Amino acid sequence: MEQLISKPVRFLDGDGFLHGFSTGRVSVKSRFRTAKGGQYLSKINFLMDNEWTEYMPIMVWVIDHPEGVFVIDTGENAQVSQPDYFKQEGLVLSYINTRSFKFKVCEEEEVGNQLERLGYQQHDISKVILTHLHLDHFDGLHYFDKTEILVNRLEWQKPSFALPSLYPKWFQPRLVDLNSTDNQFFSHYASLTRSGEIALVHTPGHTLGHCSVLVKSRELHYMLAGDVTYDQNQLVNNINAGGHQYFRKSLKTISTIKNYSQANKLVYLPSHDNDVFVRLRNDLYLK
Ligand SMILES: [Zn+2]
Repeated sequence: MEQLISKPVRFLDGDGFLHGFSTGRVSVKSRFRTAKGGQYLSKINFLMDNEWTEYMPIMVWVIDHPEGVFVIDTGENAQVSQPDYFKQEGLVLSYINTRSFKFKVCEEEEVGNQLERLGYQQHDISKVILTHLHLDHFDGLHYFDKTEILVNRLEWQKPSFALPSLYPKWFQPRLVDLNSTDNQFFSHYASLTRSGEIALVHTPGHTLGHCSVLVKSRELHYMLAGDVTYDQNQLVNNINAGGHQYFRKSLKTISTIKNYSQANKLVYLPSHDNDVFVRLRNDLYLK
């Protein structure tokens, strides 16, 4: 399975990179990935499901831009497979988490170690941005105790299944207010660079405050889409994941992204899609 991709990117202000790497792998219940039943019934269905998906990546993205180095999500860490890892969250959440996910993560795959192999130390990182507060997106935070960490205010205030006992003790992110804009596509939006080439956009559905990161280069636009869908097929065919919290919002988000891709050449890069490597390498944008 592919592990790392480094793509040279031409920004308005100069050259940069978009790197992506997987911090281990995760397998989920089939009905967690693809919903059976509506918003509520689908939750019972995935808990009862005995079928597992293939192992999927747990992506971290690094945007090396003339204005700074931005890390999107922090992936998993090797401790996650310990039997008592979820203990402090109580019986119910511990049961759900140990029964619904299988992880394979080793220490050298953790975000800090892979960043180091790419040549980045913690002090090189300008900001860490979390798409949402699920474990497999924040569980590498301990490598960033001195870095500014951004989270959408709504996601912080109304998280779903956030497992706060697993946050590092020092974790106090800078909360971002997304502005409502007259952007033709995304109604809530916050630019992360002066150039406006990197922006946080509200893409609710998986969680209420879920965000994606939109990156614009001279040639292509990239969407680092977190868990908007698990793969591109779900986006193209309007398929909800059983793990989504808000089904109607999710379908609206899917339609917004597709509208955006009609107007811009958009390479769609969700966190758990084995095909992100080939799409990024070959500039395969949505058509
Ligand atoms: Zn995820």
